[in-house]
Amino acid sequence: MAELNRYSDGHVHTRLCHHATGEMEDYVRVALAEGLTHLVFLEHFETGIAYFATTWLTEADFLLYRDEGLRLQRKYRDRIHVETGVEIGFNPACIEETQTFIHEWNWARVGLSYHYMPIAGEQHINMLSRNPVNIERIAEYGPDLLLTGYYRGLLQAVQVIDADVVCHLDAGLRHAAKVTCQESHWRQIGEILDVMAVRDMALELNSSGLALRGEPFPCRRIVDMAGLRGLRMVLGSDAHSPEQVGRGFAQISA
Ligand SMILES: [Zn+2]
Ligand SMILES: [Zn+2]
Repeated sequence: MAELNRYSDGHVHTRLCHHATGEMEDYVRVALAEGLTHLVFLEHFETGIAYFATTWLTEADFLLYRDEGLRLQRKYRDRIHVETGVEIGFNPACIEETQTFIHEWNWARVGLSYHYMPIAGEQHINMLSRNPVNIERIAEYGPDLLLTGYYRGLLQAVQVIDADVVCHLDAGLRHAAKVTCQESHWRQIGEILDVMAVRDMALELNSSGLALRGEPFPCRRIVDMAGLRGLRMVLGSDAHSPEQVGRGFAQISA
């Protein structure tokens, strides 16, 4: 994967999302120590989600975040290029509101994820959570059906949301019991990648997968499918604490 820039981390969080630690400047310091030349904050935006915890930024948080991002960009401009972007959590019920948010704030980078699945009449399921409440509900609903719904939602997301990069594409059901992709799922993934190619969206290689399962997200087969379609690839650590900035990049780009 020679085209990958291993000195750029395109996906880090901060304490502002309520499930990560560390000030924004702590992340910049680690990036410098790791020899990175480019760092993109990609904080969580979600809207219309019914869930027992808040894993995203409020509007007040976003104001602080944007201002601090600008301050750090100026402070470190001679050593590293710092940018402030957003990781959009897709919600099919709130498409207009999400697009308005993206365009009004004019983020340097827009990542697209699908964290929360709506299940009729109940709370959303957080597909990426380790919390037993989510794992149990996924088992009840049927992992196979949920995975089909996940890819159906993600297909709609890449069609209607103006994003630059799709984050951890195969993260659906991350901590649930082993679910293998059926042929129908592979077809869905192919359709998503086709739309990304037409809309010039990059695919993120998310290095958080290395610790969790020994390879980045998404899996090799999807990376190859993306390569066949000529998609651009970018690296992201999905750091939720400062020491995770740039994790595994040397290994992935070797
Ligand atoms: Zn997060
Ligand atoms: Zn993330």
